[in-house]
Amino acid sequence: MPVTRKLARPLLFLGPPGAGKGTQARAVAERLQVPQISTGDMFRDHASRGTELGRQAKAVMERGELVSDDIVVGMVAERIRRPDCGDGFLLDGFPRTQAQAERLEALLVEAGWAGPLAVDLQVSYTDLIRRLTGRRTCAVCGEIYNIHYRPPKQEGRCDREGSELVQRADDREEVIRERLNAYEQQTRPLVEFYRQRDALLAVPGEGEPAALTQRLLAALEPRVLAPPAAGLASMGKQA
Ligand code: AMP
Repeated sequence: MPVTRKLARPLLFLGPPGAGKGTQARAVAERLQVPQISTGDMFRDHASRGTELGRQAKAVMERGELVSDDIVVGMVAERIRRPDCGDGFLLDGFPRTQAQAERLEALLVEAGWAGPLAVDLQVSYTDLIRRLTGRRTCAVCGEIYNIHYRPPKQEGRCDREGSELVQRADDREEVIRERLNAYEQQTRPLVEFYRQRDALLAVPGEGEPAALTQRLLAALEPRVLAPPAAGLASMGKQA
């Protein structure tokens, strides 16, 4: 009996900082009912808990640089082996270097997964800057707002929790420049890496977030959802 997974292959979100990866990954993961694995969130969580890993990552993040491949890959390898990833998962902000992408391939083969589908959210440079400088996050639930595009109902407060909205330490202008640099040098080449594998879905990331989620789901569902159970297909019960 073949294992029927909800997703036929994992999903991953590429795209520069500020392209809306976090917002879209969250919405898509919720809709597909799979875990959203954000390496940035995992590092921020470690940093706020003051773990050794968090201490190391915090310094690197505050400079806008990338954490070492070994650390990130080790963290992701442990995470995707957990039972909640059995039906599929969505990687948000990983891989970010060619070495990470290659090591991810090996991890997926080892776990019996097909190659991932990479979503590339495309946003103009001017928009990225505006989005990054305007971003505010709820410290309690992680909901993402933007003072320009998606302001909370009450200034500085989360709509869901009523708690304070905070600005990420690395959303300051001088760090933003470094992060965009790191993206151009190390992550953008992955667009070609996945295109060559016929595993790239390039989507314009402009416009209203909810409408973008709908467009994204329509484009990616046919490419990631597992086919219906084999029994039904062989009985000719499919539409
Ligand atoms: P993000 O929330 O995805 O923008 O990530 C915030 C920061 O975490 C990045 O600027 C990096 O310092 C670090 N980080 C997150 N994901 C990775 C990754 N895959 N490889 C290296 N560093 C990462």
